[in-house]
Amino acid sequence: MEKEEFQIKLKIPEFVKILDETVRTEVLKETEKRIKPNIEKEFYVTAKEVISEKLEILETPKKVSKEKKPSPSKKEETLLEKTKHCPKCGKEIDAAAKFCRFCGAKL
Ligand SMILES: [Zn+2]
Repeated sequence: MEKEEFQIKLKIPEFVKILDETVRTEVLKETEKRIKPNIEKEFYVTAKEVISEKLEILETPKKVSKEKKPSPSKKEETLLEKTKHCPKCGKEIDAAAKFCRFCGAKL
């Protein structure tokens, strides 16, 4: 459990330093007890932010290559789906056409 703890060194304010040692120890203990949950919460939130930022940086080149490559092929696919070639004259015609608009062949 001790190994899983993260320590932050903080500067002790002057007004605490000048206190009598017994009082100072008590003040520091009580202060630590009160700020610990807040720091842990802050640590949790900030660590998640940092992780997402780091992941974004790492994933950006992958995302770009992923987005750039499929989009033209998708356009090609839709073009291929919308057109076909007439079996008679070989010209490109609408995929849904029942007759070739060039040679009039029934499809
Ligand atoms: Zn034709």
